[in-house]
Amino acid sequence: MKKISFKAKITVWITLLITAVCAVSIAGTLLLSRGVAKKELQNSLIAAVEKNADEIEYKNGILEIENEFLFYSDGIYCDVYNENLEYINGRIPEGLIDTEEFSNEALKTHSNEQGMYYIYDICMNFQKYEYEIDVFSGQIIRYEADFSLSEVTECDYKITQFDGGISTEDAIDIALSHAGVSRENAKITSAQIPGYDNRQVFQIEFICNEPMLGSVWIRGTVAADAAESAFVAINQSLIYIIPVFILIAALGAYFLSKRTIRPVEDITRSAAKISSGNDLSKRIETDGGSNEISLLAQTFNDMLERLQSSFESEKRFTSDASHELRTPLAVIKAECEYALSQNADREDKEEALSSINEQTDKMTALVNALLSLARTEQGARRFHFESLNLSSTVRDICSEFVLSKGITLTAEISEGIFFDADASLIDLLLKNLLSNAVSYGKENGSIKVKLTENDGKIVLSVKDNGIGIKEDDLKRIWSRFYRAESSRNSGGFGLGLALVDRITSLHGGKAEANSVFGEGSEFIITFFKKI
Ligand code: ADP
Repeated sequence: MKKISFKAKITVWITLLITAVCAVSIAGTLLLSRGVAKKELQNSLIAAVEKNADEIEYKNGILEIENEFLFYSDGIYCDVYNENLEYINGRIPEGLIDTEEFSNEALKTHSNEQGMYYIYDICMNFQKYEYEIDVFSGQIIRYEADFSLSEVTECDYKITQFDGGISTEDAIDIALSHAGVSRENAKITSAQIPGYDNRQVFQIEFICNEPMLGSVWIRGTVAADAAESAFVAINQSLIYIIPVFILIAALGAYFLSKRTIRPVEDITRSAAKISSGNDLSKRIETDGGSNEISLLAQTFNDMLERLQSSFESEKRFTSDASHELRTPLAVIKAECEYALSQNADREDKEEALSSINEQTDKMTALVNALLSLARTEQGARRFHFESLNLSSTVRDICSEFVLSKGITLTAEISEGIFFDADASLIDLLLKNLLSNAVSYGKENGSIKVKLTENDGKIVLSVKDNGIGIKEDDLKRIWSRFYRAESSRNSGGFGLGLALVDRITSLHGGKAEANSVFGEGSEFIITFFKKI
């Protein structure tokens, strides 16, 4: 997998992810709907049997199956059996006669070569009676015995009696004795006289505790495969759909990854061009947007910018350093050649040697300055930072510093300022500032050194009333080998302030300079105390 391209990886991962999500959701939906369909089929079997139960009753003592009784509907078979479980009527699926025991209101499954079936039986006990009795003659006009699944509530009835006729109580007695049921074994659920056009009857309804007529069984049967076959069809079609689906997902993922990776590829191409052409001034094209890719390109360009400036500064530094070394070397070479020539007398030779000595000192000073700068450029790890009494360090350096040109130095130092610093670096920093103040100071001028601390901010200032610095030069004096026009003959190399700047940065501080040309300069070093 390591050598596979990022694009291919994204394609594979997205495809796998989409396929997995789809597989899980399809499987979940199938399982769920399979369960629902199974339950649905069982419920419709029970409902069909219960509905058919309403269509069977005893009318005037004879068992009647109404025309509304559905022996076969929507794949559900219904058969009727007597109390001895002998078949009366109905349609039985092939191979299912006398196969299962009868059990009231229980759902069973039965399997044979044809498949699996659900079977549901209801045993109908005819305990609900309805009689119509003539209010005058007490004659039974009609009676029915019905099967009831509903709850029984006994009713309060009003006793009525017609002139020359029978009372409600008489009618109830007639109905009960005809059904062969005692008063104790029956619950009267209705006793009333509904209005008829030509004759008036008592309508008596009661439920008896014990069934008095032969019970009847209804058996409902349905093939369980009815739910199953739909799934078999879906499953079969999935065999063809899923590979097509994976193909579509893979194509989609490929195009998606291609689109996503394209800007990265553009960046890679541009970077490769810059690298092969060795031209750090070139930049990666970016639309300037704020998306991740544009930000990457921008970051890359910023990095190139810094690399370019850093390379250029290194190049300048090397050429400046070699230039500074070449001049004294050329002088030494010339002096040597002159001293060795026939024409040179003793005095000339001594003069040449003294010049060589002077140039060697200059080169030593330059090499030392370069070494100091190189050391600071290697980072803070090379130095020993410790809590330094800055007040006494600055005071000692000021008092020991050798002044010239009649220049005077005054120091205004707040006591007890401590700071985590490297003593040798602070020494180098202050001595550089002081020697500049002397070098660029006027005859009989003055230097003021000030050290203060306020709110964790330590400020070291070195102020002179010397020649000052022009505004244009002020920004550039911190660069290595930079010297202002007016001070080219001072003998310095232009490395002192670069070193001061590096040392300040190493201590987490900042170095600034203010100056008025012709009046003097002030160098301000600010250190920040860690809280
Ligand atoms: P240099 O060795 O030339 O003194 P620095 O890096 O110390 O190098 O200073 C860079 C330049 O900044 C100097 O050449 C000079 O032009 C200017 N400069 C530095 N300090 C002062 C100062 N106190 N007064 C005037 N000019 C200064």
